[in-house]
Amino acid sequence: MRTVPPRRASSVRQHPVLSRLLPRAIAWADAQSQEICARGAPLSPQQLPLAIAVGVTRPELVRVCEVNRVPAPEDPELRETALDLGLLGPTMIGITFGYGIYLMNGHVTNRLVSHECRHVQQYEAAGSIAAFLPVYLDQLLTFGYDDAPLEVDARSHERDQA
Ligand SMILES: [Zn+2]
Repeated sequence: MRTVPPRRASSVRQHPVLSRLLPRAIAWADAQSQEICARGAPLSPQQLPLAIAVGVTRPELVRVCEVNRVPAPEDPELRETALDLGLLGPTMIGITFGYGIYLMNGHVTNRLVSHECRHVQQYEAAGSIAAFLPVYLDQLLTFGYDDAPLEVDARSHERDQA
């Protein structure tokens, strides 16, 4: 994810709403991943080396959808919570679900692709969307977007060329 959400100071495990919503959030993220992987394009020959450079193990599985905006969850509670966390808002230019990446039209750069591909690598390291998402959301709540270790890591892997 690449955006600038507000800072928070609690933890997902201490956050009853988020804790309760987590299964629905994982189901929604899984559905987004399947949608992108069904309809999206593989990385271009120019983009593929970026994925390899940031450590993606299976870059051939990555799929990208360029969209005007990410479809918000139909579940109103999930949608409100995502926006409250700074996710899926108008400033977001990219977001990754497993091997599926949404990129906002007009913002597709090597730098953004490498950032989102590093999130793919993080999903691979976690083993699944269900394993990655609780850790990621917990970091957003605990550290805020800028200082969340997974975001710091993704930013440190941004590059203009492979
Ligand atoms: Zn990010």
